Parts: sequence; structure tokens; C-alpha cells
Amino acid sequence: MKDSYGRNIDYMRVSVTDRCNLGCRYCMSAKRVSDTDILSYDEIIDICGKAAELGIRNIKITGGEPLLRDDAAHIIKTLKSIDGIDTVTLTTNGVLLEEYAEDIWDAGTDSVNVSLDTLDKETYRHITGCDRIDSVLKGIDMLYDHGVCVKINTVLLKGINDNMDTLRLAKDRNISVRFIEMMPIGEGRTFETVENSRAIKGKRLEKKGNGPAVYYSLEGYKGSIGFISPISSKFCADCNRIRLTADGFLKGCLCYDEGVDIRKEKDIKAAIMKVILSKPKEHCFENKDDITEKKGMNEIGG
Ligand code: SAM
Ligand code: SF4
Repeated sequence: MKDSYGRNIDYMRVSVTDRCNLGCRYCMSAKRVSDTDILSYDEIIDICGKAAELGIRNIKITGGEPLLRDDAAHIIKTLKSIDGIDTVTLTTNGVLLEEYAEDIWDAGTDSVNVSLDTLDKETYRHITGCDRIDSVLKGIDMLYDHGVCVKINTVLLKGINDNMDTLRLAKDRNISVRFIEMMPIGEGRTFETVENSRAIKGKRLEKKGNGPAVYYSLEGYKGSIGFISPISSKFCADCNRIRLTADGFLKGCLCYDEGVDIRKEKDIKAAIMKVILSKPKEHCFENKDDITEKKGMNEIGG
């Protein structure tokens, strides 16, 4: 379905929990919604089914850490069977991939984004507060060796991981490593954005995937490098997405707190239409005082 600016909205990000087993310093907010407020399996399937009737074709399962839910693969498998849904993808910190990799590929997950900001153990501990990098790397290997499409997401923090060392994962494997600019949402407000524009190099590749990433090939690398640049290269005019938070709030833009509390709505389909039709023209990250979203990224799902 088209929004009021003519953009085709065919992608929904679904945060299935706000809980996480890492504590990335730019993400995790101290606040948690209560257990009973987290969307249930049935609610997620119902909302996604109604969204599919309105033209949502691609769904991203995110969080918090989605693999903390033991029904994550079950959710993906059921979503894959809904008429109209073309792709179901997952974003994870990778810590539990060793345990769930098989369930993920059995469920038919179309691709997995693994968020990993550094390959250095100390830096990883500094950013996430945890010592789990070995599990993440093993999980990536398992998915890749099984033929699952794996992409790495890295957020750069000035003076901490801006050597972009995760790019090494694209050296010998057909993996895309994407650098995402820090956005002033949640704890991200307290960090300076490292702009991607300073790092772009290589030969630009054709558009791939459902998102705003711009990809380049690099000489000597089997994989590619991608840039997601909401700050230095605003892509709102091409935005195709809506977001469902872990407690069932459907919103049109990361930047604002506007949207609908789906559970309070009698007609879910009408509520989704309302969110699509009132989707803001663009974010206002450049004017931090105008940002109204108070939720953390772990609730919203990135
Ligand atoms: N736990 C999962 C993970 O880390 O992939 C899924 C949820 S996490 C909120 C999704 C993505 O949002 C991660 O790639 C994370 O790095 C990114 N993220 C979190 N806070 C951010 C911020 N302030 N600006 C940009 N990206 C952010
Ligand atoms: Fe957890 Fe992902 Fe946020 Fe890190 S970015 S704290 S892994 S939700």
C-alpha cells in the first residue's frame, strides 16, 4: 500500500522482545516492558497476516535479542507460510546462533543479519559488556557454511571501533559487511555519529535487498561493503517500512513517538492503514530537539 507521499510500504520490522543478552552501550535502555506486554506468538502472526493483506511483503524479526524467545524460529516458519509474504529475515547479535542455527534454516529464514561491531575481544567487551564474541563467530560460520545468506551490521563508535575491522569477514567469503551510522535514538543520543561518507570506497554495485544499504565491491574481497547512512545521506524519500515494537506499538518512523497501540484497536487492518497513511515525510535527526521518540532501540528493533 502507498503512503501519502507515494512511497510503497511493503516492509515491516517486528521487535519480538525488548530483552537482550548483551548490553551494547549505544542501545540498551534500562527500561523494560513487562512480560505480559510483550507480543505473543498469536498476536505477531495475526498482525503480520493483516499487514500482508495490505501489501507488506517482507518482514524482519528483530528485538532486543529475538533468539531469547524460544519460539523465534516457529514465528519465522509460520510467517513464511502466510499468503503474500515473500521474505522473512532475522536480525540477531549472534550469541545464540550456535544453539538455533539449524532451527533458523529449517524455518526457511531468507537471510540473517548479524550485528557485530568489532573483531577485537577487548573492544567487543567494551561495547557489549559481555565476552561472547567466539560464539558469534562460530554462529556466523555455521550459517554461512550451510548456505544461509549472512550480512554483518556494524555501528561505528568514534575512537573505539572506527578501524572497521569487521570488514575482514568479507575478505574470503561472500558476506556483506554493512556500516550503519549511529542514530540519536535511545542511548545513541549520547554518541557522536561517524559518518559513512568519509569511508566509502570501491566500485558501486547494483541495489540489493529491501533496505537502504548502498553496496560496493572491493578489490581482493569476495564479499561486499555496504553503507546505511541515515545521517549523512538521508534516504527517507525511498523509505518502505513501518515498525512494530515489542509491546505492540506500530509506528511509521524511527524518529517520532506517533503511531497506534495495536492492542487497543478493534480493527487491526484499519489501524495499520492509519499508520501507513500518517507516516511522516522524513526524520529530523539533524534537529535533536524535534525527536519525540523516547523508547530505546531494543524496544523498537533498530
Ligand atoms: N539484538 C539484535 C541485534 O543486535 O542485531 C537485534 C536488535 S538491534 C536493536 C538491531 C540493530 O540496531 C543492531 O544492528 C544495532 O547495532 C542497531 N542499533 C542499535 N542502536 C542503534 C543506534 N542508536 N543507531 C544505529 N543503530 C543502532
Ligand atoms: Fe542487544 Fe542488539 Fe541492542 Fe546490542 S544492539 S544491546 S545486541 S538489542
